[in-house]
Amino acid sequence: MATERTLSIIKPDATRRNLTGKINAMLEEGGLRFVAQKRIKLDRERAERFYAVHKERPFFNDLCAFMTSGPVVVQVLEGDNAVARNREIMGATNPADANEGTIRKSFAESIEANSAHGSDSLENAAIEIACFFSDDEIVG
Ligand code: GDP
Repeated sequence: MATERTLSIIKPDATRRNLTGKINAMLEEGGLRFVAQKRIKLDRERAERFYAVHKERPFFNDLCAFMTSGPVVVQVLEGDNAVARNREIMGATNPADANEGTIRKSFAESIEANSAHGSDSLENAAIEIACFFSDDEIVG
């Protein structure tokens, strides 16, 4: 299996409820390793840039407002098939559709406030990691 890196974000609904440690434990127990992590507050411009692919969607404004409503924890995860593995551990976008034991099934408040982000491809992972981390901040 290929060792990959992916970007994960613990979203404001989860930092507000003090769930960072619980979510991180699920990621580590799922076989992923934190090789970078920081807690930051996104501003509107950065949130809009990050979610630019969704700018035509009806929920874009709400999503950007939500993502700037409190601190987030941005993280680089490393492991075998890390992109797909992280999305498995995270669960489906809508918590109603997510499998038992996933982050979103366990913690999400709604389809929008769904506690975690995970890159959806290896190509996007590299782009998203570069949005938040320089090479010397990632320690494998
Ligand atoms: P993801 O890859 O599972 O995060 O899903 P998407 O890339 O499709 O959507 C990005 C984020 O937009 C999701 O994680 C949600 O926070 C939010 N989102 C997606 N679909 C909806 C929706 O129908 N309504 C609202 N309000 N937010 C949504």
